[in-house]
Amino acid sequence: MLTNDAGRALSRTALGTAAVLLATAASGAPARAAASGPATLPQQPVAYGTGGGAATMSPYATASAIDVLKRGGNAVDGAVAAAATLGVSEPFVAGPGGGGYFVYYRARDRKVFVIDGRETAPAGARPDMFLGSDGKPADFEQTVQSGLSVGVPGNVATWDVALKRFGTRSLAHVLKPASSVARRGYRLDRALVDAIAKNRAKLARFPASAKQFLPGGNVPAVGHLLRNPDLATTYDQIGRRGARWFYTGPIAAAIARTVQHPPATPGTLAAAGGSMTPQDLARYTAPVRDAVGWTYRGYRIHGMPPSSSGGTTVGEAMNILGTFDQSGDRTEALHRYLEASKLAYADRGQFLGDSAFVNVPVQGLLSTGFAKRRAGLIGPSALTTPVAPGDPAPFNGGAAVTRSAPGPEAEQEQHTNHLVVADKDGNVVSYTNTIEQIAGSGITVAGRGFLLNNELTDFNFPTGTANSVAPGKRPRSSMSPTIVTRGGRVVEAIGSPGGATIITTVLQTLLNQLDFGMSLPEAIAAPRASQRNGARTEAEPAFINTYGAALQAKGQAFTPTDYIGIVAGLSFLPGGRLQTATESWRGGGGSAMVVRPENPDPTMGAGALGG
Ligand code: GLU
Repeated sequence: MLTNDAGRALSRTALGTAAVLLATAASGAPARAAASGPATLPQQPVAYGTGGGAATMSPYATASAIDVLKRGGNAVDGAVAAAATLGVSEPFVAGPGGGGYFVYYRARDRKVFVIDGRETAPAGARPDMFLGSDGKPADFEQTVQSGLSVGVPGNVATWDVALKRFGTRSLAHVLKPASSVARRGYRLDRALVDAIAKNRAKLARFPASAKQFLPGGNVPAVGHLLRNPDLATTYDQIGRRGARWFYTGPIAAAIARTVQHPPATPGTLAAAGGSMTPQDLARYTAPVRDAVGWTYRGYRIHGMPPSSSGGTTVGEAMNILGTFDQSGDRTEALHRYLEASKLAYADRGQFLGDSAFVNVPVQGLLSTGFAKRRAGLIGPSALTTPVAPGDPAPFNGGAAVTRSAPGPEAEQEQHTNHLVVADKDGNVVSYTNTIEQIAGSGITVAGRGFLLNNELTDFNFPTGTANSVAPGKRPRSSMSPTIVTRGGRVVEAIGSPGGATIITTVLQTLLNQLDFGMSLPEAIAAPRASQRNGARTEAEPAFINTYGAALQAKGQAFTPTDYIGIVAGLSFLPGGRLQTATESWRGGGGSAMVVRPENPDPTMGAGALGG
């Protein structure tokens, strides 16, 4: 069983590996490799030191953030540089064709801001656009691979708003590292080659995607140097002409044209077109909103408000668990974790949608009064699923609540990316963004070098739910970029990809630290389980091996899955040190770096969250 003691042992192993890799980092290898041309960058899952740092899925992206920080940029500048680079080196989960949520902690006044860069449905979207002529939901895969699924992209607007409101560098400056990687090329790793192979038919259907990802018509080999000069030019142009130009100029026209008439490779099935117009793009905005927040064991957790369901669902589950002492028997604690997730997902399905269109009872869902009521349903054996949604209305401060039909759980795979960046002044970014499925819609905008998202398939296909389609509406997301503070000071930033499993991954990683005393790397390494109000809980084999029998005795049931989530996080440790951390193996492993690496303090792994 993974107890605190075993956790410490695990931590030493992780830190030992980190120390070896840090020796490479300290030599300046990542920065040099990034600056001097195409190379496979050294990759380490944990870094420790000072001066700021970053963690992402890709060493190219982490190196871009570090490069910008080293040149005096702040966390926001670094985060945009990393996000743009992910559009190059992780093109199936990031880039100008997607959207996401950007959470920012500003050190000088200790405030948290969020930017909602979620895609929007075009003005021509219809509530029944995902229903067939028989009124039944249309075929999911065919809908994904079509112009119908493409939402108006939000990432470039997010980068622009972030830099103008909170950054210190120009868009041109922070896009440079990304355009340089796109021009010089990046080496394909096993995970990306596997993703190309798995999505070969989808990519082959659209000529510009086939040209970019299937050189010579084939799946490229691991280590193949892939260049994307079209994307390099796109980034250079956006840098020179600005984000507004992206949304009103020739690229916007090309996006609209491509969505309306997806070009099909001869001999393949033609894909349906969507309604997106240049006006839809010109109208797009990425609003700055207030974060939602809740308190757990003395820590303040800040998350995404609607249009994401991330903040309210992680928050509701934590509020429920906050009514229990979770520090005792581990089986009991994990049983309650699964039950709290079940209850929170029931409420998510009923109430969560874009709050510009439905009255989401955010206050009620995050109230401790509602949490107490929901917690009262948790007993010694597992609740029968699906559990019914609760009634947060009495806890919603008298504000209106929209009651629609509960929505189905959308189909989800593992995609998306999460990145974190901190600078030397203690500003912190936690940013999750995506093009939805792996390779999004599969449609590359010809000559522009980026894939278009399929985010609109995050809407519920049936009409009449809180998350059904409407023109201009943002589809409900699970993305949960999170920042943790204590006494107003930031102590951690964390998030993950993984569709609807994002919520449980962020929740579980926080619980591992706040209830079970693990350090951030330990909490990331620990095996995961994801219960989403279904009859069975998806779980990693290591979780089932360790806890399965004891939890089955309490009525829980498990379905094994290879892995859940790809966390990236950072935490501040006593003495002003920063630790950045990501996965050592899930999704092929991530990349953590800091500006001034140090050898880790051997006692560091024993502590829980700092602050
Ligand atoms: N589209 C998903 C969401 O917003 C994220 C993509 C994924 O990880 O599946 O919840």
